[in-house]
Amino acid sequence: MPSLLAVAIDAPLRRLFDYRPPAGSPADTLEPGVRLWVPFGRRRAMGVLVERRAQSEIPAARLRSAIATIGAEPVFDRPLLELLVWAADYYRHPIGEVIAAALPGPLRTGADADATTLRWALSVAARTGGLPPLNPRAHRLREMVSALESRRDAGEAELAALSPRWRDHLRELERRGWVTELRLELPKSPATTYPVARGPELNAPQQAAVAAIGEASDRFQQFLLHGVTGSGKTEVYLRAIERIVEQGRQALVLVPEIALTPQLVARFAERFRVPLAVLHSSRTDLERLDAWRAARSGEAPVVIGTRSAVFAPLARPGLIVVDEEHDSSYKQQEGFRYSARDLALVRAQRLSIPAVLGSATPSLESLERVREGRASLLTLPERAAGARPPTVSLVDLRRHAATQGMATPSVLAVQRHLDAGGQVLLYLNRRGYAPTLFCPACGWVAPCPRCDARLTVHQRDRLLRCHHCGKEQAIPETCQQCGQPAKPVGQGTERIEETLAQLFPGVPLARIDRDAVRRRGALEETLERIRSGEVRLLVGTQMLAKGHHFPGVTLVVVLNADQGLFGIDFRASERLAQTIVQVAGRAGRAERPGEVLIQTEYPAHPLLTRLATSGYDDFAAAALEERRTAGWPPFTRIAVLRAEAARREPAHAFLERARAVVQEISAAGVEVLGPAAAPMERRGGHYRAQLLARAASHGPLQRMLADWLPSIEVLPEARRVRWSIDVDPAELF
Ligand code: ADP
Ligand code: ZN
Ligand code: ZN
Repeated sequence: MPSLLAVAIDAPLRRLFDYRPPAGSPADTLEPGVRLWVPFGRRRAMGVLVERRAQSEIPAARLRSAIATIGAEPVFDRPLLELLVWAADYYRHPIGEVIAAALPGPLRTGADADATTLRWALSVAARTGGLPPLNPRAHRLREMVSALESRRDAGEAELAALSPRWRDHLRELERRGWVTELRLELPKSPATTYPVARGPELNAPQQAAVAAIGEASDRFQQFLLHGVTGSGKTEVYLRAIERIVEQGRQALVLVPEIALTPQLVARFAERFRVPLAVLHSSRTDLERLDAWRAARSGEAPVVIGTRSAVFAPLARPGLIVVDEEHDSSYKQQEGFRYSARDLALVRAQRLSIPAVLGSATPSLESLERVREGRASLLTLPERAAGARPPTVSLVDLRRHAATQGMATPSVLAVQRHLDAGGQVLLYLNRRGYAPTLFCPACGWVAPCPRCDARLTVHQRDRLLRCHHCGKEQAIPETCQQCGQPAKPVGQGTERIEETLAQLFPGVPLARIDRDAVRRRGALEETLERIRSGEVRLLVGTQMLAKGHHFPGVTLVVVLNADQGLFGIDFRASERLAQTIVQVAGRAGRAERPGEVLIQTEYPAHPLLTRLATSGYDDFAAAALEERRTAGWPPFTRIAVLRAEAARREPAHAFLERARAVVQEISAAGVEVLGPAAAPMERRGGHYRAQLLARAASHGPLQRMLADWLPSIEVLPEARRVRWSIDVDPAELF
């Protein structure tokens, strides 16, 4: 009889830890997925029971007992716990960290998974200064008040961090009228029938898509819903979800980071008058915990969220949707480097439910799965509301020199569309004023002292800023090498904004990039000014390319397509093509036809000519052939071992040793390349290098990694570097 507990603990170790059960709770009364307090070194840690064991490698005398369980109910059901274990194994990441990533913050520190949480906030009287001041020597009370002042509200987890006697202090403050208790409740359970607002009549391809998804409702099937922007994909999701909700089941909808806007949530909320569980990193811990509970209890039939929502607990799962499945924000780029899109498929398969991946620009991986017959293709060939697809043309920058980033044909086109009453979107994937501060006298360029990179000029903030490490410094008046005046060279969105104001005086203008919308709510305000038609010209980065509907936009100008044309990463051209097509898709979504101009110095580049003349599918077919020839995914599987250190030598020494270790393990069918320095070798003061492991398929690579990592972990060289493993990397460096 298994009498021991194998527990996952949030620590960077690729293993479980064995404990005896806590006093009074024999092992067989504890369900996997339940949380426990356990002694861990000298501290107390929260752990999750993963499995029960009959014996341990730890000598019986050294086995410690868990302290207590936290809540009677498991926080993960079996299928979800098994998915997490699978993911830890697949991505070769410490299981404790994987489990922590799947839990809302408060549950990692022992908050109750079931009860409605209590929150506390400063009382109105306290906020308006209507109370006698606290004794200056009542440090604990004052500390608690200032903790509450700095946030809207706080719960047990936050307050417990202040003092072990926090409950006493809190009661004292409540007694004196400083603090009030908040009790948050979920929306009341809806009636058994869900009143659903009516959507538009579906067109034939939409109907076919909804029918195909509906037919697969009790088995795993993956669908690729491929349709240009505005073709009605979201409408298909809504209709497929409607069926699931009517069956009393739940749908999980994943969206990219930036696309989870209030409008999207509003569109779902309007269609389904049921509690929506919204899981998003910008929500408070409390909001996320409530959403998590509503998903887990089944009270929320629709769960919508960004990357980590793929781990949302679901009482009655019926469908998983991944919108904009090509989006790179689905891949976590640090720590537990999982792909939410890929895990969504694994999860759907394990649950025997359908998964729908949607995109106007599907990833090459997904297109290849369709070609192999593993995914079913659902196509929406036309724009739903009858809008015509935009015309795309290239502006040859060698013939039409750009002044301040704008070539004459582009300027004329902007004027024409403004005159016709349209809105114009200008896309440039470079924020700041100018990408370089340059000395014409000696050729000096302001460098980042910590990276192999140049500093970007941010005129408005009067700063030079490194876009790689965040380093900031004042803009020097003169060249640091020869003392002559230095000047900004090249274009960033800030400068384009200035140029547009000069070229089109009096035309209302808005800029959308990370700098312009840093203030909370700023993005929403600007989007509203665009939607209302007040803004006529908008300039922005990547942020504009995703998810937004700008029905009034009739012209899109891509100011510089060339940055991505010669990227060294094997995904560079795919990313560029997706971005261009996505930005272009913002044009002409309503009645007015759209036009797209792409400024380039390489108008004969096959990527651009394919996109301009025959579209994304044609580009993708050619790009897949290139991948096949070069042996890149999806035709191979790769993993990257990265290392960085304050000096170059330890990083390379570690990777050399890691490479040598490969000889001693079973690595049949796996090719190891490197070590190679990153193209930008130094970033944030660290030298970076990597090894690449590649195999024809996933099996040999997984077997090799399973042997390799335990040997790497114990290398003495490993202690001198920061290293990580990235399975199915989104980027090579
Ligand atoms: P996508 O998700 O592919 O960008 P949406 O589902 O958002 O497309 O649809 C784009 C616009 O067309 C929306 O305003 C939507 O309400 C509308 N629409 C979608 N399907 C239809 C339809 N069958 N008939 C009329 N309008 C539709
Ligand atoms: Zn100089
Ligand atoms: Zn830097």
